Amino acid sequence: MKKILLPLCLLVACSAFAASWGPTGHRITAEIAQRHLTDKAQKAIRDLAGPYPLAKLSTWADEIRSDPAWDFVKPWHYISVDEDETLDAVLKRDHKDGQIANVVEAIQFFYALLKGDAANTRIFEAMMAEHKVEPLMGSTRATALALLIHFVGDIHQPLHVGRTYDLGGNKIAVLWFGEKSNLHEVWDESMIEQQKLSYTEFVQFIDHPAEQDVRTWQSDGVEAWAQESIGHRKALYATAYQKTDFTSGLPTLSYEYPFKNLPVVKDRLLKGGVRLAALLNQAFG
Ligand SMILES: [Zn+2]
Ligand SMILES: [Zn+2]
Repeated sequence: MKKILLPLCLLVACSAFAASWGPTGHRITAEIAQRHLTDKAQKAIRDLAGPYPLAKLSTWADEIRSDPAWDFVKPWHYISVDEDETLDAVLKRDHKDGQIANVVEAIQFFYALLKGDAANTRIFEAMMAEHKVEPLMGSTRATALALLIHFVGDIHQPLHVGRTYDLGGNKIAVLWFGEKSNLHEVWDESMIEQQKLSYTEFVQFIDHPAEQDVRTWQSDGVEAWAQESIGHRKALYATAYQKTDFTSGLPTLSYEYPFKNLPVVKDRLLKGGVRLAALLNQAFG
C-alpha cells in the first residue's frame, strides 16, 4: 500500500509553489536595513508609514498573495535565467516600457518612485486602479516602500534568480530531515527556521559587516546582486544531489546541507539588508 501512495504524495509536494524568503528571512533583511538607516531616512519613513519597524512592512507583499486582485504583482518577486541565457539578454528580452517584468525591474521602478519619479507614480497608480486594489495605508508611496523592502530581500535569495524549467527549485523534490519538501522551500525557510532564532536574534548574530564591505556592497547595482545570486546556484544544486534516499530516490538533505549552505544564506540576508539601507537612505535622505 505504502509503495503505491508514495509517488502520489510526491506529486502533491512538487506542485506547491513556495513564495519567497519566509517571513523570518524578510524580517531579518528589513531589520538589518533599519539598523543602517540615517536619522533623516528613519524619520521620513516614520512620517510616511507610521511607527512600525520595516520588518512589519517586509512581509506585506506576500500577504497580498491571498487576494487574486493583486496577482499582477507575482512576477515581480523573481527573475528566471536559464543556464544557456545571460541576465543581460533576459532583461532586454522582457523589458516593456511602462511595465514591470521581474524583480530587477521592480526594485529599480519602486526606488525611482520613492525618489520622486512622477512617471512611475502615475504608472503604478494606474495599475492599482486597473486591478481595483487599494494601496497600503491609502498611500502609493507607502505601498512602494513595502514592495521595495520585500523585493530587495527576494533578489538576494539565490533561487529567486533561478532556472525556468525547475521553477527556481520549486520542482526539485527533496527530503529535508526525512520530510518531503523542495529545494526552493529549503532556501526560503527551512535552513533559517532550523536556527530557532527570532528575527531580531538572527540580526544580532549576523549584522557585523566590516566597514569596507558595507561600502563595496552598497556600490554594486541591482543587476550585480542578481548576478551574485546566479553565482551561488551551481554549488547549491550540486550539494543537494550528494546523497539520495534509497526508498524514495529523492536527494536527502540533513545536517550536512545547512552546514555547507547556511553561511551563504546569512551572507545573502546581510547583503540584502545593508543594500536596502543604502537605497532607503538615498530615497529618503
Ligand atoms: Zn517575495
Ligand atoms: Zn521563494
